[in-house]
Amino acid sequence: MATDDKRPQGATDSFDVIVIGGGPAGYPCAIRAAQNKLSVACIDEWKNKDGTPAFGGTCLNAGCIPSKALLESTELYHRLQEEFATHGIKVSGTQLDLAQMQKRKAGVVRAMTQGIVALFKGAGVTGLQGHGRLLPGRRVEFTAHDGTRRTLSARHVVLASGSAPIELKSAPFKDPYIVDSWGALDFDTVPKRLGVIGAGVIGLELGSAWRRLGSEVTVLEALPDFLPFTDEQLSREALRQFKKQGLNIRLGARVSGAEVKDNAVEVRYSDAAGEQRLSVDRLVVAIGRRPYTKDLLAPGTGVQLDERGFIKVDESCRTGVENIWAIGDCVRGPMLAHKGKEEGVMVADLIAGHYGEMNYKVIPSVIYTAPEIAWVGLTEQEVKASGRPYKTGTFPFLASGRARAMEQTSGFAKIVAARDDDEILGVHIIGPLAGELIAEAVLAMEYSASSEDLQRTIHAHPTLAEAVHEAALSVDKRSIDSINR
Ligand code: FAD
Ligand code: NAD
Repeated sequence: MATDDKRPQGATDSFDVIVIGGGPAGYPCAIRAAQNKLSVACIDEWKNKDGTPAFGGTCLNAGCIPSKALLESTELYHRLQEEFATHGIKVSGTQLDLAQMQKRKAGVVRAMTQGIVALFKGAGVTGLQGHGRLLPGRRVEFTAHDGTRRTLSARHVVLASGSAPIELKSAPFKDPYIVDSWGALDFDTVPKRLGVIGAGVIGLELGSAWRRLGSEVTVLEALPDFLPFTDEQLSREALRQFKKQGLNIRLGARVSGAEVKDNAVEVRYSDAAGEQRLSVDRLVVAIGRRPYTKDLLAPGTGVQLDERGFIKVDESCRTGVENIWAIGDCVRGPMLAHKGKEEGVMVADLIAGHYGEMNYKVIPSVIYTAPEIAWVGLTEQEVKASGRPYKTGTFPFLASGRARAMEQTSGFAKIVAARDDDEILGVHIIGPLAGELIAEAVLAMEYSASSEDLQRTIHAHPTLAEAVHEAALSVDKRSIDSINR
C-alpha cells in the first residue's frame, strides 16, 4: 500500500491509482498496481466502429492483434497457392472467403478485449468506460459514455492515452478510399490496385497482407533509403525479398496530392525521375503516429508536452508533477506495445515502493512480414559510427535443416559483438519466425551475455534457433554448419 500523502478532500470517489487509457500500456499498469494491493481504476474511452466500448486500445482493437490475425490468414492462403505443391500437396478449387477471414479476425479481437474485462475482475481493477480528464490536485473528471460525470481522486494518476495516425495534408483521409491502418484492416473486398504511403512497419505489414490476396501494391516512401533504422545488410535483404513478392516499392517519392475520382484515387507524387501519377482503388496512409492527448489535461495540471506533443517524462516515466506519471505511445521512445507494457509495470511497482526500471537499450522490434524481420540493440552501422572495434557473425537459413524442412530458407541471423570483451551489441534476423527467435537475443543482451555465452549454450536440433547459435559461433569464425568467411 502506498504510504505517501492523503487523498484530496471533496472527491466523490477515491483510489490509490487511476490509470487513464486501457491499451497495452494502461491495462498492465492497472493490473500490476492491483497485484501490489493498491485500489485501482482504469478509465478507457475506446469504442469500436459499431459503437461498442472495448478495453485494449489501439493494439488489441485496431493494431497488433487484428493485423497479425490478417497476416496469418493471408500467409496461409498464399502458401496454399505457392508452396503446398512443393510439399507434394495438390489442392484444387481454392477460394478466398474474405468475409470469413474478417469474421475470424473480429473473433480474435473480441476474445482478447473481453479477456481484459476478465483480467480486471480477477485482479480487482475497477474498469470505467468513458473519458478521463486530469484536473489539478490529482483529481480526474470521468465522463461515462452515457454522459454522466463524476470527479474521482487518487494518490497517483497514470496517463496512458496512446497515439493516433498522422494525417497527410496532401492526401487527407476520405473513407473508404483514403484510409488509415484501421480502415486498411477492414476492407470488405480485395482492392485490385492498392496504394500505400509510407514504407514503414504498417505499410509493409498491411501491404504484404493485401498483396498475398492479389492486390497490385505500390508503396510510396518519401525517404531515399529503405528501412533506414535497421541494419543495412538486413534492409538490403528485406527490399530484395519484398520486390520478389511483387511489392512495388518506390523510394524518394514525395506525394503532392490525392483526389478521389470515378471510384478511384489519383495520386500525384514526384521522385528522382520527376512528376508521377498513380491510380489506385484504395490508398492507405501510414506515415507514422502522433501522441494522442486530446482533452486529457485540464488547465493548471502542470503536466507539460514537448514540441511534438509527447507528454514530458523522465526515465522513470515521472511527469515532473508529483505523483502524475505517463507511459506508452503518449511519451518518448518507440511506439511499441511491449515498451508501453513494461513502462506500465515499472510505474505500478515504483508507486508501490518496489524496485522498477526500464532498459530502453534492449527493446526488440519485429516486422511481421514473411520473412519476418526482428532486431534488438545496435546495427552494424551504428557500432561502426561509435568507433568501438567490433566483429560480426552471420548464418543463412539456407543452411538450417529446420528451415529447409519448412521450405522457408530466406534470410539470415546476424550478431554484432564488441571486439574487446565480446559483449553482444546487436542481433538482426530476417527469416522464418524471426520475431520468436529474437527473444533469446533479448535475454542474452539483458544479461550482458558475450557471443561466447551463446556459443556455449546448447540449442535443440533441428530448430530455427540454431541459426542464432551458429551466428554466434560465426562471430569467432567457428560456425560448424556454414563456411566461415
Ligand atoms: P493505445 O493502445 O493507443 O491505448 C490508449 C487507450 O487510451 C485507447 O483505448 C484510447 O481510446 C484511450 N484514451 C485516450 N485518451 C483517453 C482519455 N482521455 N480518457 C479515456 N481513455 C482515453 N506494436 C507492437 O509492439 N507490435 C505490433 O505488432 C504492432 N502492430 C501494430 C499494428 C498497427 C496497425 C498499429 C496501428 C499499431 C501497431 N503497434 C504494434 C503499435 C501499438 O499498437 C502501440 O504501440 C500500442 O497500442 C500503444 O499502447 P498505449 O497503451 O500506449 O496506447
Ligand atoms: P513508421 O514510422 O514505421 O513508418 C512511416 C514511414 O512513412 C516512414 O518510412 C517514413 O519515412 C514514411 N513517410 C513519412 N512521411 C511520408 C510522406 N509524406 N510520404 C511518404 N512517406 C512518408 O510508421 P507507421 O508504419 O505508420 O507505424 C506507426 C507506429 O506503429 C510505428 O511507430 C510502429 O512502431 C508501430 N507499429 C508497430 C508494428 C510492429 O511492431 N510490428 C506494426 C505496426 C505499427
